[in-house]
Amino acid sequence: MSGPQTPSQTRPLTCTEVQVGADLAAWMAAGGGAALRRGLQDPAAIIPALEAAGLRGLGGAGFPTHRKWAAVAAQPGPGNGPGNGPGNGPGNGPGNGPGNGPGDSPEKWVICNGNEDEPGTFKDRFLLTRTPHQVIEGALLAALAVGAAQVALYVNPRETAAVAVMRAAVQAWDGHALLRQLSDAIGAPLRLAVREGSGLYIGGEETAAVASVMGGFPFPSLKPPLPVEQGVDGAPTLVNNVETLAQAGLVLRIGAAAYRALGRGDAPGTKLYSLSGDVLRPGLHELPMGVTLRELVFEHGGGMLAGRPFKAVFTGGPSNTLLTAADLDVRLDFDSLRERGSRLGTGAMIVVGEGTSILRKTAEYVAFFAANSCGQCPSCKIGTHQASRILARIEAGTGRAGDLEALDHLTQLLPGSGRCGLVDGAATVLASSLRSFPEEYARALARRA
Ligand code: NAD
Repeated sequence: MSGPQTPSQTRPLTCTEVQVGADLAAWMAAGGGAALRRGLQDPAAIIPALEAAGLRGLGGAGFPTHRKWAAVAAQPGPGNGPGNGPGNGPGNGPGNGPGNGPGDSPEKWVICNGNEDEPGTFKDRFLLTRTPHQVIEGALLAALAVGAAQVALYVNPRETAAVAVMRAAVQAWDGHALLRQLSDAIGAPLRLAVREGSGLYIGGEETAAVASVMGGFPFPSLKPPLPVEQGVDGAPTLVNNVETLAQAGLVLRIGAAAYRALGRGDAPGTKLYSLSGDVLRPGLHELPMGVTLRELVFEHGGGMLAGRPFKAVFTGGPSNTLLTAADLDVRLDFDSLRERGSRLGTGAMIVVGEGTSILRKTAEYVAFFAANSCGQCPSCKIGTHQASRILARIEAGTGRAGDLEALDHLTQLLPGSGRCGLVDGAATVLASSLRSFPEEYARALARRA
């Protein structure tokens, strides 16, 4: 696939509706900025609106966005005394917190996480290049809601187009009246800047992103403390994925009820699904949250490549339990997939048809995780490489007696043994592939000399 395509527009207003690149005037003329204006009228209503909309973290974990924002809002910051409570952070002008003037507490941060590097995931780079102001507006709303004066737009430097557009987009906000109003509401001058990451996959993990913004190597650190408690320079830090922030702007712009109604069933809003693999029309599709896998693959994806039967989907990126033909009618939302024993993750769906080897793809993904382990946790550093080596030789037809048992052992040993989720993802996809497609492993092992 050559890259993201224009998402199919199934609803009149979505978070990819206005695609004008860095042109701020064109974005404003198309209705952009309405969310921020609404937020400025009543900052305390922002977090409740996200709660009413049911917005969840779209970087992969699906954590309720309002809870994360409320956790940062509740922390003291400059001009924001302790005990302000959820939803009450913004709009408390300088020195408005009980006995707590500006400078008493560290400046809070918002990090817009655009490190996106998960195999099969290409949604954030689309938002950053095509509708950067939708993302920036979401980040500014977040700053307003939590009382943060520092906003880092953290972008993967290998996405050079995204970096260039975001830099131009940030410049376009320079001196804008809305930014001045925002600074007044927060009680400190708002600083908005693009921060290029390290270009490493692991730099997208939230504690690694914090380390990177502070200028260090992106080593993930143990949680707790969560970034909402101690992030950049020890200050409360809100780390949200690019799509989450873009959707937060949409919530404020169209209202929580209208946002909820965009989704299917209990699943609110829209989702950017990154569709790739053995389908006729791979690409990015913004669709109601909760479309079925069948709709995504056979309607929006145009069906299977060369009419090959559907075999499976690596979801998430490829760090979750595989979906198979028995799951075609499952709804692609956080809760439905969790009930099915899998996860929505980033919304990446890598489709595999008959004739494509699940074993080969699993070997490829586990090798990716091994190569991208930061090496801090021995079980991750050694375990992912061990699994990768065994998979490579089974795939090459040189597997050994005991290899399946060794893989199975690793899938039991590794989960939960690292300080971030990388090793868990590798173990989950491996276990799922072994469980759902044992015949591929048996065939490859039978090939050995
Ligand atoms: P997590 O479940 O540990 O945390 C999710 C978020 O909720 C975090 O920001 C965490 O700080 C926050 N949180 C948890 N408890 C909280 C509380 N009590 N109060 C406030 N905030 C709280 O997940 P994670 O390790 O951050 O992310 C895992 C996901 O990342 C996976 O689903 C995976 O799909 C995804 N991922 C995405 C990419 C990408 O390129 N976008 C790459 C790798 C992984």
